[in-house]
Amino acid sequence: MIFSGMSKNEIEFKAQQLIQEFQPDVLAGRTAFDIEEFCELDLKNKTGLSLHYSMQLPSGIHGLTSAADSVVMIDAELAENPLNRKFLRSTMSHEVGHALLHVPTLKLARKMDIVFKQEKSHSEKINLYRKSDIPVYRNPEWQAWQFAGALLMPKQVLENLLKQGAPIWVISEHFQINIPFLRSRMRALGFKN
Ligand SMILES: [Zn+2]
Repeated sequence: MIFSGMSKNEIEFKAQQLIQEFQPDVLAGRTAFDIEEFCELDLKNKTGLSLHYSMQLPSGIHGLTSAADSVVMIDAELAENPLNRKFLRSTMSHEVGHALLHVPTLKLARKMDIVFKQEKSHSEKINLYRKSDIPVYRNPEWQAWQFAGALLMPKQVLENLLKQGAPIWVISEHFQINIPFLRSRMRALGFKN
């Protein structure tokens, strides 16, 4: 097993560092993290991976991250449909999680043939491991979703909005994410739904 365990706190911290570095306004609750801008302008410098919008992803695959090709690929159809914008944002953030948390490990271990694919309804396949073989804290898919949640919904900002009594739909608009993703983030943080 090449992926190390990573606690929720470590992942929170890494996401927060990225926000602090690129869009600190997000931590002040002024705006949502612009993951599209980050991927288009800064991903390459930060991770060595390029962003490609692709028409060629197999059907049902929304995004993938490949260490061998140094690329994050996002389904072009998903990216072009404004109705899917919130789902696009969580997909991109998840792939950035792989790019930051896992690709460096893969490169060091020379396991470049591993590709992370994001398929329908948040379920995913990894080439070499079956999910059930991996304890939750080591599961790279769990880590990438944890990262995406922390990046798009910083804990402190979410907590403040809840304290102010903001309704769920207002919070989902503030962060520009779908409500089910918001609710799973709240559960993960132990906040009341
Ligand atoms: Zn994934």
